[in-house]
Amino acid sequence: MNEPTTGGWTIDSAELREAASSIGCGLPISVLFDPEQATSFYSGIKDGQHQITINGGLRPGVASWTLLHEVAHASQCERMGHVEYAAYTDAAKLRAGGVHGDGVHEVEANALADWLHRRYQPAVKVVQS
Ligand SMILES: [Zn+2]
Repeated sequence: MNEPTTGGWTIDSAELREAASSIGCGLPISVLFDPEQATSFYSGIKDGQHQITINGGLRPGVASWTLLHEVAHASQCERMGHVEYAAYTDAAKLRAGGVHGDGVHEVEANALADWLHRRYQPAVKVVQS
């Protein structure tokens, strides 16, 4: 997690944890960097940890906001219960033709990401090259 990504940043674990806790996300968060992924996404809970995949090539500001958006989905998952959340997102993907997410949860995740982004330091640390 501490290797700089191709976007020139690492995750600020303390800031990420604080932001996540503030919206009721209590489980640990595991972040996978995948430069091949065009989009970033939240994929539920595995081994007691939220799983987030993010494109490491994103610019730092975009990466921070995107990470907070996915953490908002993690908080939704804890709130709904992860079995229900998985069933819900599977159904939403079917309705949307394979596209991630649907209306209400995306709107809320965007609003939470905006709020967290204003309230906390960036969730990523820029690495000087
Ligand atoms: Zn989303």
